[in-house]
Amino acid sequence: QQDEWKKLVNEPTKTKDNVHVVLGANIGNPGDVTGVVNNGGEAVGLYRTEFLYMGRDKLPTEDEQFEAYKEVLEKMEGKPVVIRTLDIGGDKKLKYLPLPAEMNPFLGFRAIRLCLERQDIFRTQLRALLRASVFGKLQIMFPMIATINELREAKKILFEEKDKLVAAGTQVSDDIEVGMMMEIPASAVLADRFAKEADFFSIGTNDLIQYTMAADRMNEHVSYLYQPLNPAILRLVSRVIDAAHKEGHWAGMCGEMAGDATAIPVLLALGLDEFSMSATSILPARTQLLKLSKEELAKHKEAILNLDTAEEVLDYVKTKMS
Ligand code: PEP
Ligand code: MG
Repeated sequence: QQDEWKKLVNEPTKTKDNVHVVLGANIGNPGDVTGVVNNGGEAVGLYRTEFLYMGRDKLPTEDEQFEAYKEVLEKMEGKPVVIRTLDIGGDKKLKYLPLPAEMNPFLGFRAIRLCLERQDIFRTQLRALLRASVFGKLQIMFPMIATINELREAKKILFEEKDKLVAAGTQVSDDIEVGMMMEIPASAVLADRFAKEADFFSIGTNDLIQYTMAADRMNEHVSYLYQPLNPAILRLVSRVIDAAHKEGHWAGMCGEMAGDATAIPVLLALGLDEFSMSATSILPARTQLLKLSKEELAKHKEAILNLDTAEEVLDYVKTKMS
């Protein structure tokens, strides 16, 4: 099997009916890119930049960040790189950035919420990203967007920093895509509106499932409710994909679900364009996708979305879609 996978390292991911889907990787550090390239990744679908901020005793400087982003973009040699702005808070804490204690950290002051308030931190990161943009194909992504106003505000700040850099004579790429995580149910419900203002969506199922099912992603007592294949989740995923397509955009997924062999046929049926997973899952996923026909699977879309339970979906996938 290892040998079969190895042959596919330099192959594009084409389904049996010749549809190209992008298989990307999730990374936490520039050093992870080697693994992405060795495993045939066609993109970095999620660079979690919070690791740059963790395990140290002060904020990373603009130049330190610039070097890290540049390194990832250069090593990917023009392939798309989605860099997510700081998603701190929730379960991820910084000892040099004390935050108020919260009853429900996952529902609290984190990610874009924090960045819009601590604009000093946010603007520094955005400048580093903009400066790095000329070294590859950069796609900037905002985490935990819940309202259109947050997206507008984040974009406004980004473009302010861009204008300042350009005015100062710094080179900034003209084709940076600006997208958002779809990981809050409110945004998924309003995906049609968001699609008018974001260039792409990446579905963060790790959070989308916990918020939709009201089941803490780390609490084993309620893990039975953490159901990627629950039809409620699938309807939200489908809605997000359709909304992106209607505006001519792409939709990806960077939550764990994207690399799950059981979910892959369903996600292909729903029209997902990009799957981002751990690097080691890429070749197994490519092997699987080469054998699947998107057109055939898409015929099952309505049927799956109209099932009642995750168990029924699982059974349907196993008997009719694999
Ligand atoms: C997600 O929520 O699915 C996601 C990819 O982000 P994180 O796991 O970093 O919250
Ligand atoms: Mg998340």
